[in-house]
Amino acid sequence: MYDVIILGAGPAGLSAAIYTGRAKLSTLVLESAMVGGNAGITDLIENYPGFPQGINGSELMTLFMRQAENCGAEIRYDEALDLEAVAEGIKVKTSSGELQARAVLVATGARRKALEVAGEQEYLGRGVSYCATCDGAFFKNCPVAVVGGGDSAVKEALYLSDIASQVYLIHRREGFRANQTAVERMRANDRITLKLNKVVDSIEGDPGGVKRVLLKDVVNGGIEALSVEGIFVSVGMVPAIGFLGNRLATDNGYIVVDDRLMTSMPGVFAAGDICSKKVRQVATAVGDGALAGVTITEYLKE
Ligand code: NAP
Repeated sequence: MYDVIILGAGPAGLSAAIYTGRAKLSTLVLESAMVGGNAGITDLIENYPGFPQGINGSELMTLFMRQAENCGAEIRYDEALDLEAVAEGIKVKTSSGELQARAVLVATGARRKALEVAGEQEYLGRGVSYCATCDGAFFKNCPVAVVGGGDSAVKEALYLSDIASQVYLIHRREGFRANQTAVERMRANDRITLKLNKVVDSIEGDPGGVKRVLLKDVVNGGIEALSVEGIFVSVGMVPAIGFLGNRLATDNGYIVVDDRLMTSMPGVFAAGDICSKKVRQVATAVGDGALAGVTITEYLKE
């Protein structure tokens, strides 16, 4: 029996663990994949205060993890499969058994969305990737494409421009959602070629992997073949909430919380990218985590 079980060791979950650990609540953080979440696979984070030159995402998340552990939190690799309200609190079913806590924080974040085009699943791991910092090194001096126009896509294109021979950034319109500074840097990079007003029609290859991507022009319907060996899909996120079924109230798949970050299930809180909200940044996830840490502490004193 823990006081708090936190699902997800990303910026929100680890920040909450720092607060609940310092409040002397027994705190277990469960992580199913990799500590740091999406921030941990970001090459350079430039908008998190305190690091004027920017900081590598994995380095920053390692610091978060150490700080949470120093505050008394236990971090364990295990996957949460379900939550259930019981008389003494919340039961958490995991892939290795059952745990119980007086309160639970869901901070499982969001995962990369698939394009859902022909060839995407077939060539997954053989040219199709959802993470440039994880797989980019396999494409040294090869032509690659990145799909998307948000912060993730632009960052991945910039990261890959130091590795690949050529980077094509494919975006379905002319305007970018991404931060303007990064867009300007991308536009000035002569290793990055923009393919605007284009969508991916299909990904093709041979048994060795991806060889080309077919692009459809959204203005005139024309089809263009682009020779690439890698394609990095970065077209947004989907909340990592599948394990909860319909247990919590959601909006568009994201968890609805009140001003204390409590969900529709008493004793279960949510923080970070998994919540229905407008801005998803490391800084806002940290803010959510801090708030959840404080409100959970208050809730357990009530
Ligand atoms: P995002 O901001 O939702 O952008 C997704 C991009 O993919 C959009 O440009 C969208 O086009 C495009 N897109 C969506 N579906 C598509 C489809 N089926 N085919 C082609 N293009 C498609 O997602 P994100 O870049 O992953 O970022 C997620 C959140 O994390 C955002 O809040 C972002 O600010 C944040 N983030 C921040 C940083 C940072 O360093 N500050 C880094 C990474 C992520 P449209 O624009 O036309 O809709």
